[in-house]
Amino acid sequence: MEDTIAAISTSLGVGAISIVRITGDKAIEIVNRLTDRDISKFKSNTINYCHIINDNQIIDEVLISIFLKPKTYTKEDLIEINTHGGISVTNKILELLLENGARLAEPGEFTKRAFLNGRIDLLEAESVMDLINAKTETARKMAINGVDGRLSNKINKLRDLGLDLISNIEVNIDYPEYEDIEVMTIEKVRDFSIKLNENIDELLKDSNTGKLIKEGINTVILGRPNVGKSSILNRLLDEDKAIVTDIPGTTRDIVEGSIRLNGILINFLDTAGIRNTNDTVEKIGVDKSLSLIDEADLILLVLNNNEKLTKEDYDLLEKTKNKKRIIVINKIDLDKKIDEEFKDSVLISASNNDIEPLLNKINEIFKIDEIVNSDMTYLSNIRTINLLKNAKKASNDLIKSLDNNIPIDMLEIDIKNILDYLGEITGQKYDDELIDRLFKNFCLGK
Ligand code: GDP
Repeated sequence: MEDTIAAISTSLGVGAISIVRITGDKAIEIVNRLTDRDISKFKSNTINYCHIINDNQIIDEVLISIFLKPKTYTKEDLIEINTHGGISVTNKILELLLENGARLAEPGEFTKRAFLNGRIDLLEAESVMDLINAKTETARKMAINGVDGRLSNKINKLRDLGLDLISNIEVNIDYPEYEDIEVMTIEKVRDFSIKLNENIDELLKDSNTGKLIKEGINTVILGRPNVGKSSILNRLLDEDKAIVTDIPGTTRDIVEGSIRLNGILINFLDTAGIRNTNDTVEKIGVDKSLSLIDEADLILLVLNNNEKLTKEDYDLLEKTKNKKRIIVINKIDLDKKIDEEFKDSVLISASNNDIEPLLNKINEIFKIDEIVNSDMTYLSNIRTINLLKNAKKASNDLIKSLDNNIPIDMLEIDIKNILDYLGEITGQKYDDELIDRLFKNFCLGK
């Protein structure tokens, strides 16, 4: 028997209402010891008025929502006590629940029980957390598609394809003379495998979009000192009244801030100006800026319209040439002295607050309008994307085996590998340690 767990589910602080949650076999018995009404008489899925009493003193006037197993979030009896908001009331009620036999829940333990008791799969559980952490409307929409199982359906359909293939191969091996069963010729297996491979490819492609929706577009602003990087960042952030934070490191700090562009988060990093220098501290800043190039989803390479290009500009153009980048020509309010034309560059003036062309370009490059209007059932977590990449590798192996004329019954190993990876995505197969680690990142009381 699992023990009964309790936690405060709302954030701690002053507010109108707080919720203390308890779930497990003893939930009703424990809460009953603290109330002035017999809560075991309450019907499931009802909200009931009562008082929490301790030592003959009223602790709070509360509403108790009662959910009897098995149709509850955790599939166990679950009670939510709606208390008056505030730190001392909620802490006192939690304390009383713990004194009367509940154990303090670990972060995410309610959702972990929902998973272990088979109410939701792992993908749905992860999406619950994504929903809570969603910073944009788009991220919220994607997360809710995960919570309500649409994303899991996509993965399960893919898995079904593989399962069909295996069962057909097995029947063919066991009953080669059985007439009703389609004879699984190598050609059929090949068609099937290619279809599986294509579907995995598509999901992988979509997951890049999923990651952008969830985490935002990490954008690094690069350029020589004084070309106007900080001014551009300030203009960009003004758009959305975002908070600018300094990341301490060197005296020439990297500054970051995010904006929402049509529902997608753009995370900007303004870097130390890049130039050749002998100053040790400045050099650390410059090296740090250069190392950010590799990790960025987008580079804004800022050039000064009012100066000829220098060697440092050319170095930066070279260093970023294989990255997704926008060449931003700033200070167009001043005379044009820049001595090179770039196709696809944007012309702006940070001091005149004329940065619209830059925002339009980001929109265009990442097809943000398309993303926002797409169906948004995408994988977006590193764990699931890595598993999908493994499934893709296994699927490539399957095609290779087919090309090498491996006997049909030997192909089962490759197909089973694909199925295992897909199964791990939704948690049909899991490792206890991974589950513990995963749910520890959840909020307390969720
Ligand atoms: P950073 O070193 O690249 O971050 O450059 P700053 O943003 O600190 O700007 C350097 C100088 O250029 C400052 O004096 C800014 O006021 C000026 N500046 C920035 N953008 C523009 C612009 O669009 N037009 C003009 N005329 N001056 C600008």
